[in-house]
Amino acid sequence: MKNILSIDCDNILCDTARAFLKYYKFKYWKEVSYDAIRHAYLHENEEFSEFDRWREAYYDFFVWAHDTWVLKPMKWSQEWITFLKDAWYELHVVTGRLSKQLDFTQRRLDAYFPNTFDDIHLWSDMTDEHITKWVLCKNINAKLHIDDFIHYAQEITVEDIPVIILDCPRNNHQSIDSSLITRVLDRSIITPDFVHNIVNAA
Ligand SMILES: [Mg+2]
Repeated sequence: MKNILSIDCDNILCDTARAFLKYYKFKYWKEVSYDAIRHAYLHENEEFSEFDRWREAYYDFFVWAHDTWVLKPMKWSQEWITFLKDAWYELHVVTGRLSKQLDFTQRRLDAYFPNTFDDIHLWSDMTDEHITKWVLCKNINAKLHIDDFIHYAQEITVEDIPVIILDCPRNNHQSIDSSLITRVLDRSIITPDFVHNIVNAA
C-alpha cells in the first residue's frame, strides 16, 4: 500500500480567497480588494467581523462558487500537483466542507486536476460528527500534510504527522514552534524527493 500525502484545498489547490471576494460582492454588494485580505485570514479581517453567522455563509459560498465555476485553481497548482504525484504516494485532499458538498467538490477537483487525487475527505465543525482536520489526517493515516494555516498544522503535528506550510502573507508573520513543520517559501521546491526526506525524517 502506498503512503498517503494529504493536501489542503483552499488557498493551496484552489484560489478560495479570491473567489470569496467575488461572492461577497455578488451577495452583499460590497467590494473588498484582494490586497485587503492577503495579510489575514477571512475570520481575522475587520471587514467580515460583523458578518453574522459567517461560517454558514462560508458554506453557502462554496455552493455558489462551485456552481458558477468562480472557484479556480491556484496559479501553477495544476502542473505542480501532477509533478508531485509519483509512484510512492496516494494524493488525498482534506478540506473543510459539509458532507453534502462532497459531490460538487469532487466534480470540480476532477475537472481541474484530472486523475490526480485518490480520495477527498471533508471535515467540518458544523456536523454531528464534528470532525476536525487533524482527526481526519490521523484516520486516513497521512504520512505528510500540506497546508497554509499554521493553526491546523500545529494540531496535526500533535499526531506526529509532519506538515509542510506554504508561506504566504497570511501566515508568514506567525511563528512555528514544531520541528515537524517545514515552512516552504516556494512551492516548486516540493518535489517527490523533498517529500520523501521529510516523511523519512519524521
Ligand atoms: Mg487552506
